[in-house]
Parts: sequence; structure tokens; C-alpha cells
Amino acid sequence: MNTSFPLLFVSHGAPMFAIEPGLAGPKLAELGRELPRPDAIVILSPHWMTRGEVSVTASTAPKTIHDFGGFPDALYEIDYPAPGAPALAGKIVDMLGQAGWKSRLDPVRGLDHGAWVPLLYLAPDADIPVVQVSMPATLDTRSAWNLGQALRPLRDMNVLIVASGSLTHNLYEFRGATPHGADYVKQFAAWTAQTLQTGDIEQLLDYRQYAPSAERAHPTDEHYLPLFIALGAAGEHYDTRVLEGGVTYGVLAMDSYLFSSAPAAEHEPAHSIQGA
Ligand code: ZN
Repeated sequence: MNTSFPLLFVSHGAPMFAIEPGLAGPKLAELGRELPRPDAIVILSPHWMTRGEVSVTASTAPKTIHDFGGFPDALYEIDYPAPGAPALAGKIVDMLGQAGWKSRLDPVRGLDHGAWVPLLYLAPDADIPVVQVSMPATLDTRSAWNLGQALRPLRDMNVLIVASGSLTHNLYEFRGATPHGADYVKQFAAWTAQTLQTGDIEQLLDYRQYAPSAERAHPTDEHYLPLFIALGAAGEHYDTRVLEGGVTYGVLAMDSYLFSSAPAAEHEPAHSIQGA
């Protein structure tokens, strides 16, 4: 049976994740070795948001963008020289157009740190072509889910979709928190993992109403929205695996999730499997 390529939500944490792997780095590296080799990686991150239309990188050699300030020199010296995939970028623009999204190619834009930092671990040889897709500035949980659905056909083209965000993201608390992680961070992470497991999409989409400490975990939505892009791309029947990444700086939960297609039979009611 032909199965669609798995996809990922990754927590990219702070830029220092590039040189401080912590628990999450080795987990992503291990996953990168375990997954089949994709023909390309399509990645989204809240560090590239566009107004009016979705943009898609179309450069043959996307630059490594060091879109942060005040970090050690070592961070600015990192280059992630993966090739682009202009032909695939063109297909993505068509795919988005068919799903009703206004979109355009961007021949200049490179990869932001939300993209290249996790790729340092997932695909360290930088030899798999990478295309980044922007997140519309108007995105909310439901439209992010729709955007993920529009990208789902990529999974049948041997493409790895990576939706990069942060499982929790309260930068107001960045320096003050306990080193092992605030309780609300762990509770929010546990709620997300559990709700993904039960597949209650409605609760997830309305997470501000249902999740413990949602306002505190995400004063603004943009770093959680990639999870909904991943969910949309995952489709109705998915299996999910948590890659536990711990908590950095006390406030950034670093868990990532792997989504893969589940055989439909597993989702039939138990009595129909056990019956007769
Ligand atoms: Zn970020």
C-alpha cells in the first residue's frame, strides 16, 4: 500500500538551539536518520509571515538568514547551504491556488532561523532541497489547519513537510522562570500531547478555551499555529509520536511531533474488529 510521507511539527525554541542541542537536538537528529530520505523538505515558520498572499521561496540557493540580534558570533557563522527547489516551489504555488490561497514565488528570500535551526539536526548534510512557505499574517487556528490541508498532496510527492513553531512561547517570562520549567509549561505540553493522541481536533482548534494556561503559554498565537498546519497536512487518520525535548529557559517546551498516516482499519470501532 502506498503511504503518504510522514510530517513534523517541531519546536525550534530560541536561536541558541543551533549550538545548544539539549534534549531535543539528538531526538531530531535520530528521527532524521530514521525517516526515509525525502526528495525535498517544505518548511513553514512564524519568522516569515506575509500579508495578502502566501509566498514560496524559489531561489536555487536560499540564503541562511540570521534573523536575530545579540547572540554569540558562533550563531552568525552558521550556514545551512541546502539547495532550493524552484520547480517544486512552482507546484506549491499552483497547489495553493487550487485550494483558494493567493500565492506567489519569492526568488530572493532565504531560510529564517525557525527553518534552518531545526534542519541542522534533522538534515545535517544540507543536501536535501528546501523550500520555505510563508505564513499569512492573518492566520488563525482554523485557517492554519486549512493551509495544512492545501499542502497535504506534497506528502504523496515524497516531500517532508516541517511546520516549525514552539510548543510554548512566552518571551515575557524568558529570563525569570525556573530552570527546570514552569508547571504551566509542562501542563500545556501534556494537554497538547494528550489531545493530539485522542484526536479531538475541535478542542485543539479552540485551545484558548480548553487548554490549561493557554494565554500564558501563548500570549500571541504565531508559534502555536504551525501545529495546526501540521494537523491539516496530517489528515483525519493520523498516528502521532511525541519527541520529548524537555523545556529550555524554563518557558520554551521543546517537544516535537511526528505525524504519520494510520491504516484506516485501526480507527474502526473496537467492536467491529472484535465482533463476529
Ligand atoms: Zn521562533
